[in-house]
Amino acid sequence: MIAIVGRPNVGKSTLFNRLVGMRQAIVDEFSGVTRDRHYGKTFWNGREFSVIDTGGYVEGSDDIFEEEIRKQVLLAIEEADLILFTVDTSEGVHPLDEEFARVLRQTKKPVLLVANKADNPGMSFNSSEFYVLGFDRLYPLSAVNGSGTGDILDDIVKALPPDTDNKDIENPELPRIAVVGRPNAGKSSFINALLGVERNIVTDIAGTTRDSIDTRFNAFGFDFYLVDTAGVRKKSKVHEDLEFYSVMRSIRAIEHSDVCILMVDAHEGFAVQDVNIFSLIQKNKKGVVVVINKWDLIEKETNTSRDLEKYIRERISPFTDVEIIFTSVNQKQRLLKALEAAIRAFENRKKKIKTSELNEVLLPIIENTPPPATKGKHIKIKYITQLPTPTPAFVFFANLPQYIKDPYARFLENKLREAFDFKGTPVQVFFRKK
Ligand code: GDP
Ligand code: GDP
Repeated sequence: MIAIVGRPNVGKSTLFNRLVGMRQAIVDEFSGVTRDRHYGKTFWNGREFSVIDTGGYVEGSDDIFEEEIRKQVLLAIEEADLILFTVDTSEGVHPLDEEFARVLRQTKKPVLLVANKADNPGMSFNSSEFYVLGFDRLYPLSAVNGSGTGDILDDIVKALPPDTDNKDIENPELPRIAVVGRPNAGKSSFINALLGVERNIVTDIAGTTRDSIDTRFNAFGFDFYLVDTAGVRKKSKVHEDLEFYSVMRSIRAIEHSDVCILMVDAHEGFAVQDVNIFSLIQKNKKGVVVVINKWDLIEKETNTSRDLEKYIRERISPFTDVEIIFTSVNQKQRLLKALEAAIRAFENRKKKIKTSELNEVLLPIIENTPPPATKGKHIKIKYITQLPTPTPAFVFFANLPQYIKDPYARFLENKLREAFDFKGTPVQVFFRKK
């Protein structure tokens, strides 16, 4: 993951859009997610990596204080693999740039200094004044017109640590479950409750290239890895209530998991930050279980849990085919139920449906409710097959795939979910020409 940092108005979000822009639009078309615009994936020279625009999470960023900057940058340094430190060529060196530089010079992680708004060669030339910030190399570029972005992407890919992903894990076939959510939801209590059960069944495996620790859990018929338990247990010294912090802390765990348990504090309710973490999970095409914790603190009436469930499903729509479990870590209630749901999501996520079965089940449904005719043309879906991708994705071959609209895609996705049980996992639907 790379993080874009810098003072307000230097062009961080423009650079973010430049780096992830086109792909983002394509990804979003299918997932239906438009919510979180500061996190995205990009692909360059065969390497996929994610980008986060840290500025997108700072509220009242025109009035940013040194202390706030320091905390934000420290967290970015801790969580990201590489930092793009962005400055504004048209304004020259600003005192806040020096403040950022002071903190960034202390990290051993790669920091690339981006002199943005170098829209023409003259401005690129002027940008050399930023060498006073103490970095070896400077990347003059224009986020607006794109010049210079190819060079920096080349160097980003070279500077990123090798993409080990799960290769340093002993048993790559075991599920990897991450517990994510806002600060104080009960994540570390949950993990401690699980791991406290029987110390000797737990093995800590240190990642070789990252300082994250995955823990194997092998008890009560379960066998899986808890991802980045060190990160969850590590209590941050910074303002944990800011959304930025929970997002930064969650990203790595999400990216390295198969399934996420999104833990929510029942007392706090399901807030916009929870929706954002949910959408990060969905964007990464990971399995998910929503766990409403601290249920012991809630005064219950007949429909309390049903109403909350309904409310959550409205918030996470359209991906609502997700289990919602009400737990109390304190009273050890339904903790294993949460794990069972996570394992079900894991199994559903790698489920493969035979082509013959797919066509037998879906073609009659499509016959009954065909895609609406567009411009007087009848659309015929002739054949369906599942792609050999790690997560469920289906191709519907049609005579006029370009005329099939989102609502119909959603209808097909729902039919797939009804027939084959993909609860807890994103499902993609594509249309191609026969
Ligand atoms: P952020 O606050 O750092 O995220 O900055 P924004 O991305 O919102 O950009 C601030 C302003 O700078 C906007 O008006 C952008 O259009 C402008 N801007 C961003 N990148 C460039 C660039 O490469 N060249 C020029 N001329 N303007 C830019
Ligand atoms: P984290 O920041 O998500 O790791 O949250 P913690 O595990 O540190 O928990 C935050 C606080 O919530 C602690 O004081 C826990 O004791 C408390 N807590 C966690 N789970 C429960 C629960 O199920 N019920 C109640 N009443 N308190 C809980």
